[in-house]
Amino acid sequence: MHKERIYRGIPASQGISIGRAYVYTRRQININTMALKDGEVEAEVEAINNSIEISLKELNKIHAISIEKIGEKNSKIFEAQIEILKDKIFLDGVIKRIKKEKKSAGFVFNDEIEKLAAIFQKSKNDYIKERYTDLIDVRNRVIRNMKREKLVSKVDENSIIFAHELTPADTILFSRRKVMGYATDTGGVTSHAAIISRALRVPAVVGMKTISKFVTSGDCVIVDGTEGVVIVNPVQETVQIYEEKIKSIKYHDELLFEIANKPCKTEDGKSVEITANIEFVEETEFIKNCGIGLYRTEHLYMEKGDFPSSAEQIQEYTAISAATYPKSVTIRTFDVGGDKILQDYRKEDNPYLGWRGIRISLDRVEMFKEQLKALLISSVKKNIKIMLPMISSVDEVRKARTILSEVKTGLDKEGISYDKKIPFGIMLEVPSAFVLSEELAEEADFFSIGTNDLIQYILAVDRGNELISGMFQQFHPAVIRALRKIIDGGHSKGIKVSLCGEMASVPLAVPVLIGLEVDELSVLPSVFSEIKQTIRAMRLSDAKALVAKILKMPTESEIRNEVEKFYELKIKPKIL
Ligand code: PEP
Ligand code: MG
Repeated sequence: MHKERIYRGIPASQGISIGRAYVYTRRQININTMALKDGEVEAEVEAINNSIEISLKELNKIHAISIEKIGEKNSKIFEAQIEILKDKIFLDGVIKRIKKEKKSAGFVFNDEIEKLAAIFQKSKNDYIKERYTDLIDVRNRVIRNMKREKLVSKVDENSIIFAHELTPADTILFSRRKVMGYATDTGGVTSHAAIISRALRVPAVVGMKTISKFVTSGDCVIVDGTEGVVIVNPVQETVQIYEEKIKSIKYHDELLFEIANKPCKTEDGKSVEITANIEFVEETEFIKNCGIGLYRTEHLYMEKGDFPSSAEQIQEYTAISAATYPKSVTIRTFDVGGDKILQDYRKEDNPYLGWRGIRISLDRVEMFKEQLKALLISSVKKNIKIMLPMISSVDEVRKARTILSEVKTGLDKEGISYDKKIPFGIMLEVPSAFVLSEELAEEADFFSIGTNDLIQYILAVDRGNELISGMFQQFHPAVIRALRKIIDGGHSKGIKVSLCGEMASVPLAVPVLIGLEVDELSVLPSVFSEIKQTIRAMRLSDAKALVAKILKMPTESEIRNEVEKFYELKIKPKIL
C-alpha cells in the first residue's frame, strides 16, 4: 500500500478532480555541436528551412484549435510564436551563421533563440519572464522537426497530467483528450498553461517544484486547483472529503443549471430563443437541451491545412446533428479567409476585404458543392440549418441557392435522402447587406447577425487591432441603427432574425437586443445561464422604451450611459 502524500503549489485554475496520473516527459533535444564537413552546409540550410515550414504549419493548426477552444484573446501566444518563425531578419541571420561558421543548423538556431530568451529570463516582471518558456518551445519544435521526430503525447482520456513544464501547445493538444487536471513543477499563474487551463475550466496547480518526479503514471491523485494542493495516493477518508467538496461545487453549478432549464421568457411573457455558439462536437456535452445557433466549420479546414474530404465532413456534420437532436444546429459554410488564411494562396493586402467566406465558395464551386452535399446527406434528422457567411449582395444568395438546387437534384438522382426543406439562411455582417436587408429577406430563410464583423465593417475598425480596440463599439449609434434596420427588414418578410456575434454574450447588451426584438441569441456556452437570467429578469416593454430612447441618441457614450442606468436599475437587483 502506497502512503498518502500531500504537495503544495500555486493554485492556477479552480476546481477539484480525482483521477489517474499521466506523467508526461518531453524528450530531450540533442544538438549537434560538431563542425560541418565540406558539402554538408547546403543540406543543413535546407533542413532548417523545411523545419521552419513544418513548424509554422503545426503552429497555425494549434493556433486555430486554440482560438476555437478558448478564444482569440487567450490564443495570442501562438501568434507570437508564429511571428518569430516568420521573422526574416532573424532567420537570415541564422542561415548566414550556418554558412559562415559551418555549424549545424540546430546549434546556430538554439544559440540565437537563447540570446533572445536570455533577455526575457532576466526580467523582473513575471509575465515577461514566462515568455522565455514560449521561445524555448519554438526552439524545441524547430529542432525536433529538423530531425523529423514526432511529439508523443498519447494520453488516456480523463487523466490528470503531471509534467515538469507544459507548453501552451501541449495544454491545448491535451485538452482534446478530455484531460481532468494539470500539475506542473514550473510555471506561475500567468503562465500560458495556467491561462489556458482557466479558459478550459480544468483544475490546475503550478509551481510545484519537483512533483513530476514523485508521481508515477497510473497513481490515484487529487488535484485541488482552488487551494493549490495535490494529493498522491490518497487514503479512503481523504477521497471522501474531496468527493464531498466536489459535490458541493456541483450543487452550485446545478443552481445555475436550474435557471438554464427554465423557459427563456421576459417577465411580461416574450419568449426569446437562446442557443449556443459551438466550435467542436465534444463541446455539446456542456450545452445539453439547447440548440446551436452557430457552428463554425473552418476548424475542419484549419486542422487539415486544406478543405476536408466529403467523408470527413459527413462524419462531422452527422455527429453534430445527432448530438444536438431534437434541437437544431445552424451550420455555417466555410468562412475561410480574413484571419483564417489559405496558406497556398497569394497574400492579400486587405484580407478582411478580400477573398473570404461565400466569395471563395462561389469561386471554388466544386468545393462548395461538396460541402453542401455533405450537409444535405447529414440532414436526415431534419435539424440542420445551412448558413452562408459574408453575404454582400442578393446575387450571391441566388447563386448559392442555384448551386444548392443542383446538389439536391444530384442527390435525388442518386436516390440519397436528405431534408428537402433544409433552411438556407445568411449571415448579416457586411454593410451592403444591412442596407439591402428587405431584399435579402426575400431570398433567405433566416438571418443571423454577425456583430463581430458587422461592427468592424460599419465602423472601419479592424476587430483584431489592439491599437484601436476602444473604437470597436457595440453601442455606437450607427451599430444600433443598423441592427434596427436588419431586424425590421427580416421581420417585414416574416423571417426570424438571430444574433450570433459576441454582442449576444454581453449581459449589458441584452436589454438592447431584446428591445430591438431579435428572435434568438446564440451565445458562448460559458455565459449561457447568465444571459438567460438577464432575459428572465427584464420586461419587453421596458426594453422597447430603452431602445426608442437610445435610437435618438447621437453618441456612443450617451447610449452606453443610458443602457448602464437601465441595467443597474431594472435588471441587476433581480439577478442572483
Ligand atoms: C461575426 O462576425 O459576428 C461572427 C459570428 O462570425 P465570425 O466571428 O466567425 O466572423
Ligand atoms: Mg463573421
